[in-house]
Amino acid sequence: MEEISIVSPQVLGAGQAFGCVNGDFRLNVRADLMQLWPDEPDHFAIWATRHITDDPDADTPVGPFHRRRDFAAYIAHELAARPALSSVRHIRKTAMALGERDGAWHITLDDDSRVSAARVVLATGNPPPDWPFRGPVADSDRLVRVPWRGDWPDHIGRQARVVIIGSGLTALDALHTLRLRGHEGDIRLVAPDGLLPPVQTDWHDAEPLAWPQTSSAAGFLRFMRDTVGDLPWEKTEWQRRFESLRFNISAAWQSLPATEQTRLMRRLGWLWSLARFRAGPQAHGSAMAMLDSGQLRLVTGLVTGIDSRDDDTHQVRLASGASLDADAVVNCSGAGRDQLITRLLDDGVARRHDGLAARPALTPRLQLLRPDGNAYDTLFGVGPMTAHVAGDVLGSASIARQARGLAARLITQQAG
Ligand SMILES: Cc1cc2nc3c(=O)[nH]c(=O)nc-3n(C[C@H](O)[C@H](O)[C@H](O)COP(=O)(O)OP(=O)(O)OC[C@H]3O[C@@H](n4cnc5c(N)ncnc54)[C@H](O)[C@@H]3O)c2cc1C
Repeated sequence: MEEISIVSPQVLGAGQAFGCVNGDFRLNVRADLMQLWPDEPDHFAIWATRHITDDPDADTPVGPFHRRRDFAAYIAHELAARPALSSVRHIRKTAMALGERDGAWHITLDDDSRVSAARVVLATGNPPPDWPFRGPVADSDRLVRVPWRGDWPDHIGRQARVVIIGSGLTALDALHTLRLRGHEGDIRLVAPDGLLPPVQTDWHDAEPLAWPQTSSAAGFLRFMRDTVGDLPWEKTEWQRRFESLRFNISAAWQSLPATEQTRLMRRLGWLWSLARFRAGPQAHGSAMAMLDSGQLRLVTGLVTGIDSRDDDTHQVRLASGASLDADAVVNCSGAGRDQLITRLLDDGVARRHDGLAARPALTPRLQLLRPDGNAYDTLFGVGPMTAHVAGDVLGSASIARQARGLAARLITQQAG
């Protein structure tokens, strides 16, 4: 039998999303939608009822929204309960490069050692954020480039003037933790559209919709628009219809040509993200309270740089020419660039996607491609790095379903 090794510097199951230390950061969907085992959709919700006994704030009128770190504890619990999984070899290093030679893959690790493998699955998740502008910024306790772990609020004084870059779910997490810690200073949130994510509703009974055959971005969009109708997106019924679209959206997405996928992502990627990623009631409530009190102001614009002064304050430059003074800046601009994938593309190990050159081309069976266009049968991707081709594979439930499909194919391939 093939031996399986996992290369990751982090504890298994505690990656970028759930490996956070901040108890104020919560899952952004209710417990029954966090599905690790596709055959047992309520597994986490039931586990949480039994095991999370110290978190009364999880409960909301639209369902329980647990702490993200509790989901990591759940995964750890599930691993421990399965000896075959807990005995998998875990190499706690970062993979820097990958090359194929003599019928095997050779992976270079960050201490320059190497491991070899017959088959490789890239499951690198969401890469840590980069500052969303060119030019050097020295990360520090108060210039927070990667806020996901959540260890930064301790370094920010209560009176500090804070600038948050970005207005998605990470920004709402930042606002929520600052509010719970009694932050008193002004907060400015800079985003190109100046919009905050809508809040989760108590939608239920979304029926999977069959998508029509369409090979154009316009047809794809029309079906979505006709389905959600003219309702305001804050409404429960809007979200229920939107969720009914999502069941089969990945298959519909995969039937679009790469040029149409790219067109949709470029034109509407931001709007999709806003509608798709709704905030939990706790974080959304904090943002609304801070807006109401005037402590939080939304600034529509793009950040183009940060200049630090000798007195440890910062000037955040905007594309409009204006600037904002800050004692702390929190970068909530989203996932950055995956270093390993970038290296594979630059080294000519994997072919680039036709429309999105920074992403790898992939077959529907999640194989990466050789530069000549032939698919590897020993190099695969799974999770967020496949979303540009595979569709909405961003949340834990869809990643789990995709991983199960890939695992089944790998087992069949090995047997054959
Ligand atoms: C801040 C945040 C909050 C989220 N909240 C939710 C949520 O509430 N609900 C939900 O369903 N989804 C959420 N998501 C989506 C999330 O991406 C998925 O749910 C899921 O955690 C991703 O799983 P993954 O295994 O693909 O990636 P990860 O869990 O990020 O795991 C990837 C692992 O690969 C490692 N890695 C990366 N590159 C290398 C390398 N070169 N060498 C070795 N190891 C490497 C990383 O260190 C990490 O441990 C969130 C995402 C983020 C970023």
